[in-house]
Amino acid sequence: MIKILIVEDEKAISNLINVNLTAHGYRCFCAYDGKEAADLLEENTYDLVLLDIMLPEIDGYELLEYVKYQGTPVIFVTAKGTLEDKIKGLRMGADDYLVKPFQIGELIARVEAVLRRAGKAETEITLFGVTVNTESRTVKKDGELIDLTVKEFDLLVELIRNKNVALYRDRLYELVWNEPFSGETRTLDAHIQRLRKKLGWEEHIKTVFRIGYRLEV
Ligand code: CA
Repeated sequence: MIKILIVEDEKAISNLINVNLTAHGYRCFCAYDGKEAADLLEENTYDLVLLDIMLPEIDGYELLEYVKYQGTPVIFVTAKGTLEDKIKGLRMGADDYLVKPFQIGELIARVEAVLRRAGKAETEITLFGVTVNTESRTVKKDGELIDLTVKEFDLLVELIRNKNVALYRDRLYELVWNEPFSGETRTLDAHIQRLRKKLGWEEHIKTVFRIGYRLEV
């Protein structure tokens, strides 16, 4: 599992990032000041560090040098939004720079992009004889290609990312269709039915009464 360290002194922002990255299948750790971050970095290795700049104890610029020395990718997530700030951060070696306030979707996309560039994204997962490759967007069962539509594929990836978690229909719909859930459940339910059938996962994709679906692993 990909491990991400969130270095952020504002609890609300830290929680927001944590909840959303966790929902996308990342394992998150939080440090609320520079000293705590330095201690964690000394003891552990991470696949990515999300780094605030204005922090108590030790600031983000100082921490960046240490993290880069370890070879870990870094995204600055900061209120320092001028062009000079961005140039400074990137020149210092940050892999990306995101200015607060930000949309959570943009953060997720940037996290994915930086991990991909660092060669750390998990691109292939095998479950119950089904191999899903998120880079080539192919699905194979016992070596045979299975033909999935774009939405069926995205739905499968979300179910796998959230395996063993009961996903509400509205959340699942919004993750896959990228639009607000109207309350009309037929589209999603029909896609689930087809996915179950194509993969032979009738037993694995559970219907959770009044909630939605869960991939049971
Ligand atoms: Ca701060």
